[in-house]
Amino acid sequence: MKKKVGIVGWRGMVGSVLMDRMLEEGDFKLIDSHFFSTTQTGYEGPDLGEGKQLLQNSRSLSDLQQMDIIMSCQGSDYTNEVYPQLRAQGWKGYWIDAASALRLKSNSVIILDPVNGDLIKSSVHHGVKDYIGGNCTVSLMLMAMGGLFKHHLVEWMTVMTYQAASGAGAHNMRELLQQMSSVSQVTQPLWSNPAEGILAIDRGVTEHLRSDQLPKEHFGVPLAGSLIPWIDQELESGQSREEWKGFVETNKILGIENQPIPVDGTCVRVGAMRCHSQGLTIKLKKEVPIDEINEIIKSHNAWVELVPNHKEETLQKLSPVSVAGTLTIPVGRIRKMKMGSRYLNAFTCGDQLLWGAAEPLRRMLRLLIS
Ligand code: NAP
Repeated sequence: MKKKVGIVGWRGMVGSVLMDRMLEEGDFKLIDSHFFSTTQTGYEGPDLGEGKQLLQNSRSLSDLQQMDIIMSCQGSDYTNEVYPQLRAQGWKGYWIDAASALRLKSNSVIILDPVNGDLIKSSVHHGVKDYIGGNCTVSLMLMAMGGLFKHHLVEWMTVMTYQAASGAGAHNMRELLQQMSSVSQVTQPLWSNPAEGILAIDRGVTEHLRSDQLPKEHFGVPLAGSLIPWIDQELESGQSREEWKGFVETNKILGIENQPIPVDGTCVRVGAMRCHSQGLTIKLKKEVPIDEINEIIKSHNAWVELVPNHKEETLQKLSPVSVAGTLTIPVGRIRKMKMGSRYLNAFTCGDQLLWGAAEPLRRMLRLLIS
């Protein structure tokens, strides 16, 4: 009999990408799917080719109790509210979640099967029920650098991120476009006049970006024409919570919390629509020739693509625009740094809605129903 799978949060950013991928891979044919919503109970759900079902209430514990597996892309507030009540009522199903709420709980596993597939399989075997997608930048970094970790070559790593607006959700993505459109419209008389000096245009743009006219309800500040070097909450360590996750989640995914590898850096929101990029500095445990490093990186998994460290290939292949909507994880700019032969530079980019969010969840579902 097909497993009953409840899908919550299917129309958000991550949920929509998950739906697309599940349709592409034919996953819905293998499950008895039920769609839930926090705000649209009773409305028509998605059409999977057999007509539309009505949406169920994602706060109805009795309906959720009927599910063998629940996949949530709704966010941590929802998980914190509903998950403990469900478990308290004795629900024994599998909980697969994109939100961070349960990630670091001792009874959950962070899922990224090309990197920690063995850990996932042994956890299923031992009865673990909670499988949580990792932080998007961490998952993308590990997909890119998995080979170096697997060969125990990383002494420490710094990660400088360039994170897209979509990482903050559907509303923020729209707001970036509104900001772009607003600044373009307001300053159009300046930039469309060939006789106008560039400093006057620049002053006009800055003035508008600083004004109350710019839409910034969700980001709070301009992102278009600017950047935001803080993502998530402020911690006492001086890190942002996003930066803190880099260390904690990397080591949990690798299953080496007892002997953790230092990972730290600065996380920055930039005006890319989709896909997170990361500039990495890696201190290697020992000297390894660059050809060998390239081989280790590219042979780790089927999605890594090594981009030769040349300008033309880098411009064509190593950007959010070239990678958006694909599962490819390009890694480039690989070279030894001036600091010494054990210091490696690298740059990677990946679709944070695919490998950074939806894809590990989808693959976990496949594992559970296979
Ligand atoms: P989101 O786009 O804001 O969607 C979350 C929910 O907002 C939807 O499920 C939907 O719930 C509701 N919603 C209200 N108005 C909407 C509208 N106009 N369009 C679409 N949805 C609307 O959030 P998200 O980015 O998918 O993130 C979900 C979770 O995944 C979060 O915990 C996040 O931290 C995590 N995550 C996100 C990313 C990423 O790159 N975005 C990556 C990894 C993990 P109802 O249908 O119930 O109203």
